[in-house]
Amino acid sequence: MAVSAPPMSSSSPPLTQPNAAHQRAQDLLREIFGYGHFRGQQQAIIEHVIDGGDGLVLMPTGGGKSLCYQIPALVRPGLGIVVSPLIALMKDQVDALRQAGVRAAYLNSSLNPGESRRLEEEMRDGALDLVYVAPERLVMPYFLDMLGQLKIALFAIDEAHCVSQWGHNFRPEYRGLSILHERFPDVPRVALTATADGPTRKDIVDRLQLGQARVFVSGFDRPNIGYRVVEKKDARNQLLNFLKTEHPDDAGIVYCLSRRKVDEIADFLSQHGRLALPYHAGLDAETRQRHQDRFLKDEGVVVVATVAFGMGIDKPNVRFVAHLDVPRSLEAYYQETGRAGRDGLPATAWMAYGLADVISCKQMVQGSELDDRQKRVELQKLDALLGYCETSTCRRQVLLNYFNDSLPGPCGNCDVCANPVKSWDGTVAAQKALSAVYRTGQRFGVQHLVDLLTGKETDKIIERGHNALKTFGVGRDIGRNAWAAIFRQLVAGGYLAVDVEGHGGLLFGPKATAVVKGEETVEFREHKEEKTPRRPSGGARRGTAALELEGSDATLFEALRHWRLELSREQGVPPYVILHDATLVALSVERPSNIEELAAIPGVGRSKLDRYGQAILEIVGRG
Ligand code: ADP
Ligand code: ZN
Repeated sequence: MAVSAPPMSSSSPPLTQPNAAHQRAQDLLREIFGYGHFRGQQQAIIEHVIDGGDGLVLMPTGGGKSLCYQIPALVRPGLGIVVSPLIALMKDQVDALRQAGVRAAYLNSSLNPGESRRLEEEMRDGALDLVYVAPERLVMPYFLDMLGQLKIALFAIDEAHCVSQWGHNFRPEYRGLSILHERFPDVPRVALTATADGPTRKDIVDRLQLGQARVFVSGFDRPNIGYRVVEKKDARNQLLNFLKTEHPDDAGIVYCLSRRKVDEIADFLSQHGRLALPYHAGLDAETRQRHQDRFLKDEGVVVVATVAFGMGIDKPNVRFVAHLDVPRSLEAYYQETGRAGRDGLPATAWMAYGLADVISCKQMVQGSELDDRQKRVELQKLDALLGYCETSTCRRQVLLNYFNDSLPGPCGNCDVCANPVKSWDGTVAAQKALSAVYRTGQRFGVQHLVDLLTGKETDKIIERGHNALKTFGVGRDIGRNAWAAIFRQLVAGGYLAVDVEGHGGLLFGPKATAVVKGEETVEFREHKEEKTPRRPSGGARRGTAALELEGSDATLFEALRHWRLELSREQGVPPYVILHDATLVALSVERPSNIEELAAIPGVGRSKLDRYGQAILEIVGRG
């Protein structure tokens, strides 16, 4: 099915009246994409761009940015040009659009010269509605000349933070895009990104000459991601347990710091029956590609990776992101966990952390090439991360506050909300801990200090004569784990600091003296041993654990998922390009029995109805 735009006059109609072009946007949302309503600011953005305005769209991952340019490109006369930095990303988007019946294509270095030429002919012939282009191609003089002879509906600049050096993903080719405004002053431009920190945002406006653009800011919150932090004890078994109970068949990403650990964890998970693949810079390009492909094209694959993995991974049904090592900042944490749940369905961000990790990160920063100012900034970022891990209030609130965003109340979808933390007056315990630090000369780590407090006569204690200190054994009333938790909170609260220039021992922080002198009290969160969350009903749940499907609904979901996987293999596209998990879930619950009912399921547009309607109804009829 080809989508053609209705004739439209070039002067914008008055904004107040019901407007045919705006109505057309509503119709396309239903017909092409199969959705009944716009989300958040989508409608305002789409109407603004349809009317010819420039826009800067800051919207979190999974918020629905793509429709903000795809629909205006279809409504406005002419060809929509989308700039996108990554080949894999372009291909997925184009495959998905074609499934929905949109005449879309991409132009990048993966095409051979003959293919490129044919595509450019199609552009000239008006046979396309949307073309995704790599930035370096777009700014080539011959290409700009060609565009100059065509009617252009809009320019969309996706992943617009790539233009900024402050962003995490600078792409020098993006700088050339400023030429669009000069060459095509009348064509609306819309820049989109999920990164919205101040300096990056300013850079986008400056570099792309978007001074006149209307800015649409959505909050940072990703409500469907549940945040969880556990105390690291036996990390890989903790991980395995988490996967077994909560994501038995789901796809997800596990992040580790080192290549060696990536290999080790991937092996470990494989031995325990998971399809787990390693991904890091030490593997050759072909292996990395193969592992990434399987992650995208199979169901339920776990990728164990260093942070090198994830950029440009648009797989919408990543159901969990697990950190076995702490990320270096809350920005990195937000970005990495943000790869979960793009489809809006429930997903988990799980992290196992210990103070030792934070200390070794700090030492790495200290030993790095950075100048002193940068080191201070990096160390502060690690402190903020530690504060997040140790918080006794809602994690989402801590995270959003960090980005100057806020949430009116606790979220109900993080571990702290699920198990509210009780606090206790820990002033005396804090004084004991601080005294242990002070009397041993402010240079020992947590292990040794806990040995001292609990009166353990290790070789080191005896060698140093620490068993003769007054603090030796004064903390026997509290368990080792509880002492470790106390030390973490003392560091997080600024009572203790890490000696990053020495061997990572603990020394007094700015707030220590007041506590020692009894001028300040300290509250600690109650130490609880980690509990494994219980699933509401035992039984054998498959794959859908995170999606809260049960019984025959889960069985139908599996049948649909199986059918989709076969189909995706025949067509050589990832399964989510055919139908999203959210659509399969809706089908499993709603169980449409005819074409009309099927058409009302979110994500089923006209093209998918034509192509897959009968097959789906048969499966639902059987299930
Ligand atoms: P982003 O690019 O902002 O990360 P996408 O454009 O990929 O987000 O959209 C995320 C998910 O939300 C996709 O599965 C998409 O189909 C879905 N979606 C977008 N807009 C709507 C809507 N109005 N109603 C329902 N689902 C939507
Ligand atoms: Zn919460």
